[in-house]
Amino acid sequence: MSNKKTVVIVGGGFAGLQLIKSIGNTDLYNVILVDTNNYNFFPPLIYQVAAGFMEPSAISYPFRKILRSSKNARFRLGALERVITSENKIILSNGELKYDILVMATGVETNYFGNKNIEEKSLPMKTISDALSLRNVIFTRLERATRLKTREERKKEAFNIRNCWSWTYRS
Ligand SMILES: Cc1cc2nc3c(=O)[nH]c(=O)nc-3n(C[C@H](O)[C@H](O)[C@H](O)COP(=O)(O)OP(=O)(O)OC[C@H]3O[C@@H](n4cnc5c(N)ncnc54)[C@H](O)[C@@H]3O)c2cc1C
Repeated sequence: MSNKKTVVIVGGGFAGLQLIKSIGNTDLYNVILVDTNNYNFFPPLIYQVAAGFMEPSAISYPFRKILRSSKNARFRLGALERVITSENKIILSNGELKYDILVMATGVETNYFGNKNIEEKSLPMKTISDALSLRNVIFTRLERATRLKTREERKKEAFNIRNCWSWTYRS
């Protein structure tokens, strides 16, 4: 039995991976990385996926491959639901994990600065699935625009994101 402390890092984004780089190859801890997805992705290039210039695989990489060369870190898929500090335990969507040290690196949510109208009507661009939804909506609108007769009709069709949002969810 190892008497090393177990560090659980929730979130494998910029912050979580930076920490793994520092402690994921030492003999000090057992490190468990938890993330909702089994891949890390590079948010600054998400717009390229949304615009159809890049495929998701070009900006994402599996956590298990990233950790393959690590001596003491492993990956656990799951979404954090609750932390029970009195028992040093986290509850995930698919089980639970004990920790000695817990690091929360789950990032942030899209901030609409209290503007409910934008929150309801706009399309977010924060995750790979957001980018794919956006790409599908844009391409669908552009395809529909090609079937319209006048420039005015096409412009309206292609750029009316508000309609595009509700249209996507209607169809
Ligand atoms: C479109 C876009 C462009 C950007 N461009 C730039 C740029 O050019 N330069 C720059 O410096 N910054 C940029 N940023 C900001 C940068 O991406 C963030 O500052 C950075 O990703 C924050 O790192 P983080 O580790 O805190 O969170 P994230 O990188 O968001 O990582 C959070 C991780 O936690 C996981 N997670 C979240 N909730 C849970 C849960 N409940 N359970 C388990 N796992 C969970 C997520 O899956 C994710 O892997 C951009 C962001 C976006 C969205």
